Amino acid sequence: MTFDDPVWGFSSDVEATNRSSNQMTRHIFVTGGVVSSLGKGLTSASIGLLLERRGLQVRMQKLDPYINVDPGTMSPYQHGEVYVLDDGAETDLDLGHYERFTDCPLSRESNYTTGRIYCSVIEKERRGEYLGSTVQVVPHVTNEIKSAIRKLAAPDVDVVITELGGTVGDIEGLPFLEAIRQIPLDVGRENCLFIHLTLVPYLRAAKELKTKPTQHSVEKLRQIGIQPDILIVRAERPIGNDNAEKIALFCNVEKNSVIEEVDKQLSIYEVPLGLVDHKLDELIVDKLRLNTGPLRMDDWRELMGRIRNPEHEATIAVVGKYIEHRDAYKSIYESLDHAGFSHSARVIVKRIEAEELEEQGPEMLLRGVDGILVPGGFGARGVEGKMKAIQFARECEIPFFGICLGMQTAVIEFARNILGLEDAHSTEFSADTEAPVICMLEEQTKITYKGGTMRLGAQPCQIAPGSLAAACYEADDVEERHRHRYEFNPEYRQRCEEAGLIFSGTHPESGLVEIVEVPDHPWFLAVQFHPEFKSKPHTPHPLFKGFVEAALSRHKNRTHMTI
Ligand code: GLN
Repeated sequence: MTFDDPVWGFSSDVEATNRSSNQMTRHIFVTGGVVSSLGKGLTSASIGLLLERRGLQVRMQKLDPYINVDPGTMSPYQHGEVYVLDDGAETDLDLGHYERFTDCPLSRESNYTTGRIYCSVIEKERRGEYLGSTVQVVPHVTNEIKSAIRKLAAPDVDVVITELGGTVGDIEGLPFLEAIRQIPLDVGRENCLFIHLTLVPYLRAAKELKTKPTQHSVEKLRQIGIQPDILIVRAERPIGNDNAEKIALFCNVEKNSVIEEVDKQLSIYEVPLGLVDHKLDELIVDKLRLNTGPLRMDDWRELMGRIRNPEHEATIAVVGKYIEHRDAYKSIYESLDHAGFSHSARVIVKRIEAEELEEQGPEMLLRGVDGILVPGGFGARGVEGKMKAIQFARECEIPFFGICLGMQTAVIEFARNILGLEDAHSTEFSADTEAPVICMLEEQTKITYKGGTMRLGAQPCQIAPGSLAAACYEADDVEERHRHRYEFNPEYRQRCEEAGLIFSGTHPESGLVEIVEVPDHPWFLAVQFHPEFKSKPHTPHPLFKGFVEAALSRHKNRTHMTI
């Protein structure tokens, strides 16, 4: 770039290629107002699904205004689960909804934060790419945001859905709102659609639904220069014609563009069908003048039928340490549900705090469960409780599924109680243990930077023939996503094998252990990777499916059992 390169305008190669496409890429922006946690991610994912089910090519993206470069460095208490993509990107959990609802390919480009945008702007400044300019929020930061959005547009992409995290009115969200305000100037207002999600609260004392917060929220958007085209209003009960008219008038949107989204009690998978009932897909397609096929949702309706009328049930204990935070193990809970759907079963999750289990013992808390799952995690808190749960599952022949730290603790439990290595531990929790059955790889020990430096993303795994894993996967080679620093220590492999532990999944080149199994047990399997990131409502992950099946058969037989 030279001194007199223009930075105010915006043009890109993407735009040039679009001009020759049949249907120029349209942009949908989803913003939220009034309160956070309105389910913007679910609504965006549902919109993505509806457009795909009309035959469109959709791309999805989340912009998060916080300053962390990615959510990988945040506690699950702060931000819920960190969702990992194939390419190793550590992303917001809303991307999990995008993957579960749609077939959109997701990558690092699907989640940007303020931190990441600024990193890039500052790097460019240091490289001298803006030489001569004062680097400013407008246009430099906003151009960077626009380029992140426009990167997803391509000749074969019909619609890019960009969800903006946070709530309108947040200070840190302003540059993002300014950027999306500018996009219509670059691509044409007629090719953009602004959807704003708000809340219409019900005041019990007044016995009334209140539209004022929605009016204020839209007013805030309009101050910035964004006039929403469609309002999706969340409410605990139907808002009625009068309220819809009032919202339309005060917010300057057409009455048929006020779509209510009444709270769904049964399942999040109802959300898209609720939006179809209000003809949201038609509205979007008309407003953006998209050529589409008819909406095909038969399989989705069939799925809802199965969810509504389950024939079986099983109770699974999830023993973790962020148990009270519903979003901390989001994908695990979803994957258990998916597995249940495929067996026409309802999976009841009993969330158990590992520390509580450590104090009270497993008999009290795990009585009557049909399966025990220990999910991933970091840090020593609760680890001993998880191990007690695993020992209980192993000895009482309760189906057990360990994931990441759940596998590591299963190996430690085996080493302590079967190999007799009393001091067995992971070096994450006991740096000078005499039996480091879980330890850090040489390459990881040199890393001091915490962001994005774990073993991350999709990696191949070879499945041992004849194993439980092979029976579930019905495949020899699979790919699974990782997010961890510690590994099974190969020095203990032979001793564990001799004592009966089965190593049924390994990384082909490095030989790293990916799956372990305990034989002579109804179902005891633990994995170093995160299968929960690859489960969808119609295609549950094979390991979750197998685990839930084992839990269901235990449930059926339970009347004859003592535990
Ligand atoms: N703390 C463990 C590690 O870093 C496990 C991580 C996880 O469960 N995601 O290896």
